[in-house]
Amino acid sequence: MKLLVWDFNGTLGYRDDHWRGAIQDLLTAEAPEFATLPAQLPPFLRSSFPWRTPELAHPHLNTAALWWSALEPAFERTFRSLSVDPARAERFARGVRRYYCASHRWHLYPDTLPALDALSAQGWHHVLLTNHVPELPKILRGLGLAGRFDRIVNSATSGYEKPHPEAFAHAAEGLGEVEDIWMIGDSITSDFEGAKRAGWNAVLVRQEPKHSVPCVTNLTDLVTFLATPAATPSNWAVALLHR
Ligand SMILES: [Mg+2]
Repeated sequence: MKLLVWDFNGTLGYRDDHWRGAIQDLLTAEAPEFATLPAQLPPFLRSSFPWRTPELAHPHLNTAALWWSALEPAFERTFRSLSVDPARAERFARGVRRYYCASHRWHLYPDTLPALDALSAQGWHHVLLTNHVPELPKILRGLGLAGRFDRIVNSATSGYEKPHPEAFAHAAEGLGEVEDIWMIGDSITSDFEGAKRAGWNAVLVRQEPKHSVPCVTNLTDLVTFLATPAATPSNWAVALLHR
């Protein structure tokens, strides 16, 4: 079996303005007087997400309610930092979940489905390995992507965030004999380096080829890259830098 293990956010799809967008949507709907957000959310919120501390496993947050409740203090503090009064800040903290997961805010990149189709036609199987929220299956269904993967490994369910070795350990287990495996993702630390430590091939996508690692700027180039047996990853990085 030839296996491609995909990251999701920033690789196959994205949410409009991500967490800032979710908070913006909530305030616009429920407290428009506070809806003028700074360009950046407070650093403490960014550092509160479980993927910011991948060395800390969290298998105990094994329900969606537990997973989100662990984040609510950081959301509440964020709303208070925006001058929202304490009572509403507490209520809004519980509401971020619904706004973040709203299906209409999630999109695939235009080259995602054509690339998945082309790669499937070339005999590749697909696995999703993502640091994400518990509602990922619903988001994938909304995008028409749910049936594309032989397996979906989500950190919110497994308790292990990439690049924790356990996140990679079981992604391909039991799927059959794997003769070729590639991690495809947009993060050099979570995706590329984690995969290399697991002994996999890996390629960065949607990044400018500034790193000294295999890198393609879009999934159309990825299809060509994977279909070029003579191309070694290092040759490709050089070729893309000079074209
Ligand atoms: Mg990503």
